[in-house]
Amino acid sequence: MRGQTRREAGPVALLSEILRGTASLSGAACVGSAELFDPRDPHEDAIGGYRRHFAAAQVCRRCPVIDACREWADGDRKQAQSVTAGRVPKPPGRPRRSEKGGSAA
Ligand code: SF4
Repeated sequence: MRGQTRREAGPVALLSEILRGTASLSGAACVGSAELFDPRDPHEDAIGGYRRHFAAAQVCRRCPVIDACREWADGDRKQAQSVTAGRVPKPPGRPRRSEKGGSAA
């Protein structure tokens, strides 16, 4: 409506709202090396992806906030394809019958 001013929260307030409830991972050892932890790219070979994730898990081993990270990751299933709290995703394998479109007989 005319004459009304719309008040929007600034970016700090927005980020604060988004991060509410997120564990504090200040001092995380992975800062600056996200590419090691990211999910495997579909075009990345399995051995290369495994080596990259193994290197990421080594970073986690010396991370001062691994316990808080693990607690956070346990509540977020989306982390299953990334290295989180030293956990390496399962390597790709044969598709399950249900993934191939077949029926379980
Ligand atoms: S445990 Fe690993 S993934 Fe979690 S904050 Fe530390 S370095 Fe990052």
